[in-house]
Amino acid sequence: MNEHDSEKLCAMLDEMGYERGMTAGECDLIIYNTCAVRENAELKVYGNLGQLKFQKRKNPDLKIAVCGCMMQQPHVVKELKSKYNHVDLVFGTHNLYKFPELLTKSMDNKKMLVDVWDVDGEVVEGLKSTRKFELKAFVNIMYGCNNFCTYCIVPYTRGRERSRKPEDIINEIKELAANGTKEVTLLGQNVDSYGKTLENSITFAELLRKVNDIEGIERVRFMTSHPKDISDEVIYAIRDCDKVCEFLHLPVQCGSTPLLKKMTRH
Ligand code: SF4
Repeated sequence: MNEHDSEKLCAMLDEMGYERGMTAGECDLIIYNTCAVRENAELKVYGNLGQLKFQKRKNPDLKIAVCGCMMQQPHVVKELKSKYNHVDLVFGTHNLYKFPELLTKSMDNKKMLVDVWDVDGEVVEGLKSTRKFELKAFVNIMYGCNNFCTYCIVPYTRGRERSRKPEDIINEIKELAANGTKEVTLLGQNVDSYGKTLENSITFAELLRKVNDIEGIERVRFMTSHPKDISDEVIYAIRDCDKVCEFLHLPVQCGSTPLLKKMTRH
């Protein structure tokens, strides 16, 4: 999910005329798209931001932006404000699509600009991506999660479950196929729950069958599945659809029912 968000940020930067730099020293803008799932990754972000303090002293025009799941946590923003005031822009997961606007605003601002929304963002369509791979692509089918497994931060950083309309997903994949993509990975925190929030409800199994019919696409993958939500229909769709890979990313987490209950994964 984060990787695909980075592809969207790259597309926005491309449109603004930025080019990729290979070292911090040659960059005018450094952006960290952060993940909040592992503490170690969070510590690395703080470490890297600390290093950039020296870079910023050498080049006061350098702009530093930080976004992603970590920023959805108020204590992180507080920490940045108190110890990392060389950071120019902080934004979250729900307003990623506003990045160009926020960056422009922060250019005229000497102080750190913080814009983190604690409400679920709308599903914004039409965002371009600078894809990392030529033949395969990630496609979001939904955002957020309603499960609140006890150990997981995702519902707090990505918000409640929102599905994209099937026609928007299909159109995006058709466009990808027309541009040479052969393999798509359908992304969602809990893909088996796809469609439940839509007015015209559709199941994930039905979506899989529709994607399977798209000309030019040769392989369809998806992640992540939840053992309590995966249906027989999804299994049958995997069986019937020749392009859907027989591969299931299914975090079982534990074999003990009492423990699964404690994790609210029963
Ligand atoms: S289903 Fe996955 S994303 Fe949702 S709360 Fe549980 S572990 Fe987190």
